[in-house]
Amino acid sequence: MEKKSIRQKINALFLIISLITIVGLSLLLTVGFYETLQNTVFDQLEAYAKDLKSIGVFEDASKLPMNIGDDRIRITVVKKDGRVLFDNAVKISDMSNHSSRPEVEEAFSNGEGKAIRKSATLNKSTFYYAIKLQNDSVLRVAQESENIWSVIFRLLPLLLIASALVLLISFISSSHLTKTIVDPIEEMANNMDLVESTGKYKEIQPIIETIRKQHLDIIKSAKARQEFTANVSHELKTPLTAISGYAELIESGIASEEDTARFSKEIRKNSERLINLINDIIHLSELDSEAFQPETSEVDLYELTKEMAHMLELSAEKYQVRVSVWGEHGVVVTNRNMMEELVYNLIDNAIRYNKPSGTVDVEVRNLAKFVKVIVRDTGIGIGIEDQERIFERFYRVDKSHSKETGGTGLGLAIVKHVMELSGATMEIDSTVGKGTSMKVTVPKNSFAKNNVSNSK
Ligand code: ADP
Repeated sequence: MEKKSIRQKINALFLIISLITIVGLSLLLTVGFYETLQNTVFDQLEAYAKDLKSIGVFEDASKLPMNIGDDRIRITVVKKDGRVLFDNAVKISDMSNHSSRPEVEEAFSNGEGKAIRKSATLNKSTFYYAIKLQNDSVLRVAQESENIWSVIFRLLPLLLIASALVLLISFISSSHLTKTIVDPIEEMANNMDLVESTGKYKEIQPIIETIRKQHLDIIKSAKARQEFTANVSHELKTPLTAISGYAELIESGIASEEDTARFSKEIRKNSERLINLINDIIHLSELDSEAFQPETSEVDLYELTKEMAHMLELSAEKYQVRVSVWGEHGVVVTNRNMMEELVYNLIDNAIRYNKPSGTVDVEVRNLAKFVKVIVRDTGIGIGIEDQERIFERFYRVDKSHSKETGGTGLGLAIVKHVMELSGATMEIDSTVGKGTSMKVTVPKNSFAKNNVSNSK
């Protein structure tokens, strides 16, 4: 179905209103005018008849000459039995009995009577006024005047001018109105990117804000996605290039046995990096997916933290870092996998960005509504300017250190995502060269609706 246009709709509405106005106005004007005309004619006739009555000459009408009175006004005198005694326009011998004429009948019974009848001539009506005389006969005066059609005809030019005016005014106001309503909307649609351009009217301001916000969000997320894709491609390319290079050297046969072992090790390391990277990307895209409905269960964060520390024992040994977990049991209702990722990544970083013979100290605290997991390390620390950026995808403070230690640059991005979904929050306290403390606060019902929306 084709969409209706506001312009057309408003124009049509104004046209209908003007037509109704024109028709109504014409009716009122015509009826009013005609009514006034009728009243004037009857008033004149009545005054004339009363004058004639007061003169008294028509009390004995049979002897009067025919040419008496005004020739535009016909005078007739009718006897009680309906016979015509006098008429100044027609010979009385030619006239029929007048007792049944409504105005005459009315005058005989009430003293006066009125009637309007069609004339022989088109466009004209005859107005009759009858009055009872002293001698009980009835004096009737009659005059021809315009009927309603001729009034309409006479008023027609005026009505046409008025209609044209009404139509003109309505056309101007409707186009003005549509312009004021539609223009800002069109303008807005054309200038979606101009943040400072605001609508003229307060009524459409909220719509503009909403649409613009959504528009900016869409642009932002499209940009982020594009950036992410570019970064991923870049991150995949480096280890693949290395693998391909080492494989080629082995393939050519020039590498000694010793070299071959070294190259194979490089190939394995780079493959591991690729696997880590792809795993992290898979995790992120799972968390990103709108259909993602995490299953929840009761999870003791103390037990979970111990498990994660245990999993990282080898890595801790490698970096000569001592990891200890202490504190209280604290149960939260949450998604187990997501919590594992969160705690694992934090301890993993605390080990990898530590110094030889440093420590990682993990404390779990059970509060009334929250469980806190605090990961403290004695590592290299994070400068204040980087503390927010480290949660961005692929952001690393020291790229080579991250890569050397098998980092993907996605660990904290996953942590941030998990916190958003579970309603957890984090405080960072870090001094460069001394160490970092990351304090995560997990609500006990960490997937209650309000947590999730509050975290956004
Ligand atoms: P990566 O895989 O590189 O470790 P992350 O997203 O986990 O990626 O972390 C992003 C960056 O934040 C790291 O490259 C590192 O520079 C910094 N970082 C994270 N945790 C710590 C920490 N405990 N101490 C010092 N720097 C850290």
